[in-house]
Amino acid sequence: MNESCYGCSTCASADKPLEGFIAKLPMETSHHRVESQETKCGFGLQGVCCRLCANGPCRITPESPRGICGATADVMVTRNLLRAVAAGSGCYIHVVENTALNLKNTALEKGKLKGLGALERLCKTFGVSGKDDHEKALNVANAVLEDLYKPEYVKMDLVEKMAYPPRFKVWKELGILPGGAKSEVFKGVVKCSTNLNSDPVNMLIDCLRLGISTGIYGLTLTNLLNDVLLGEPEIRMAPVGLRVIDPDYINIMITGHQHTMFVHLQERLIAPDVVAKAKAVGAKGFKLVGCTCVGQDLQLRGAHYTEIFNGHAGNNYTSEAILATGAIDAVLSEFNCTLPGIETVCDTLSIKQICIDDVAKKANAELKQFVFAERGKHSEEIIDAIIASYKERRPKVKLNLLPEHGYENNLTGVSEVSLKKFLGGNWKPLVDLIVSGDIKGVAGVVGCSSLVAGGHDVLTVALVKELIARDIIVLTAGCSSGGIENCGLMVPEAAELAGPKLKAVCKKLGIPPVLNFGPCLAIGRLEIVATELAETIGIDIPQLPLVLSAAQWLEEQALADGCFGLALGLPLHLGLPPFITGSKVATQVLTEDMKSLTGGQVIINADAKESADLLEKIIQEKRRALKI
Ligand code: SF4
Ligand code: SF4
Repeated sequence: MNESCYGCSTCASADKPLEGFIAKLPMETSHHRVESQETKCGFGLQGVCCRLCANGPCRITPESPRGICGATADVMVTRNLLRAVAAGSGCYIHVVENTALNLKNTALEKGKLKGLGALERLCKTFGVSGKDDHEKALNVANAVLEDLYKPEYVKMDLVEKMAYPPRFKVWKELGILPGGAKSEVFKGVVKCSTNLNSDPVNMLIDCLRLGISTGIYGLTLTNLLNDVLLGEPEIRMAPVGLRVIDPDYINIMITGHQHTMFVHLQERLIAPDVVAKAKAVGAKGFKLVGCTCVGQDLQLRGAHYTEIFNGHAGNNYTSEAILATGAIDAVLSEFNCTLPGIETVCDTLSIKQICIDDVAKKANAELKQFVFAERGKHSEEIIDAIIASYKERRPKVKLNLLPEHGYENNLTGVSEVSLKKFLGGNWKPLVDLIVSGDIKGVAGVVGCSSLVAGGHDVLTVALVKELIARDIIVLTAGCSSGGIENCGLMVPEAAELAGPKLKAVCKKLGIPPVLNFGPCLAIGRLEIVATELAETIGIDIPQLPLVLSAAQWLEEQALADGCFGLALGLPLHLGLPPFITGSKVATQVLTEDMKSLTGGQVIINADAKESADLLEKIIQEKRRALKI
């Protein structure tokens, strides 16, 4: 071991400068712990272990094909999967509930609404109105909340209004239209408890229902409500990577998914009296440093936050490195993916941790539970605590910056609205490029970043390179975006890595071959793009030459997202199986039978080239079926 480092055997990363930086850190991070956790339990990997009751844990082997209660491998696997999908759905429904509540409270207080275009579009879709913008926003927020709080046996109203009609018809015929989203989570949790459901297909169907409520509410509507409150994305260039950390400022790293909780604080941080407080302790002011999906969301809407937001530094598994620069003075967290591992780094470097939603309470963080009516008081307390942290820690902490890390000129601010505007106000130019073959197809590379499947962002980045080299344009959403942009694939010069046809398109338009839609929530924006492309052509979504990959899916939320992709009828690639391979039924339904139900299918492959071959083959088949 090198004397200056904690342990040089760290996880591989697609981001080589980051990998080198982490290997030399004098403290332990998640990247250091990968090696000691390398031996995985085979039962867990296949999903054939159960510890739901005191008789367990029971594990399935050829000699013992049933648990003590009689549960088979199929039951264990699908029960575990449904439990995970319900938990993941619950996470996203928590986010959309809080977002709708914040919009409602802002409307009641006649606060600032930054995205009136988004509000008008939502009113039109929902069929609601109001005497002024605040009443319209109130009615929109109430419509979402009313649906979320319906019982499971009452179908949600907005599904039909939001969904593409051919898809809605399929969902209705399959009997997978969701009841109240919170109740669906409740039902899912009940269904997979001990000695209840033992029908694997029945539980898989519930996963699809949870996928629809997660997708339409937790993903799509969270984005659109955020657009009303926070301002709509605008296409622009922005820096990414550790270079965005400016040590002259008091830096706050934000983590989570609930951007609307920061609205008041963000405004206060640039107010003259608060900037004066920062100057009084020797800083130039405050800056927010983006991390995880809330950072992606701020980057996406960065045009509205140029004064306070310095850029997106990195994804979930870059968070410890961002802190290890020493120039972050506080972590403000409100949801996942706030790794427990940041705690030891924060302790070592005296970084103040504040949590504003107790669902993400860190052991050594101060809890300032966000309460809309008390946000003014809380913002002042948070600001004072962070200034005190800066004053206390900066004289004694040695900075370890990496200003050359990342890229300066990344295309950001891409949404279903801004992209269409960029194309001239309709999707015809993109459809024409797909029809002509200049763009062979579209791949949504979405979801998390993980430290498996080759290492940090390794499979994701390699797959993206393979896809663009085959003239397949890549649209991203989630922490995977953070890795892809820190590896230089979102600068216009990345066009050089694309196949000849896609390269020519990118050069003509001045865009990279990978377009970043921002946080994982923006999978909902990709769904709108898919819907509008299908509508433009006059086909259903599964007929599009469009594939999805959550190459390095990580969390239960990603599994709920994946179920939305399957409900939409899309091929979904995963680098590693979601703990299902121990069940013949689950594997058969998800990888084969789903095609005849919704049109979707799961494809599992951990090799970038092989995965790209499989996805390209599907795109070619879809093109042939469309006779293009
Ligand atoms: S609970 Fe399951 S995954 Fe964990 S060790 Fe036991 S058998 Fe393996
Ligand atoms: S529920 Fe059944 S399979 Fe699970 S631990 Fe209990 S006895 Fe074993």
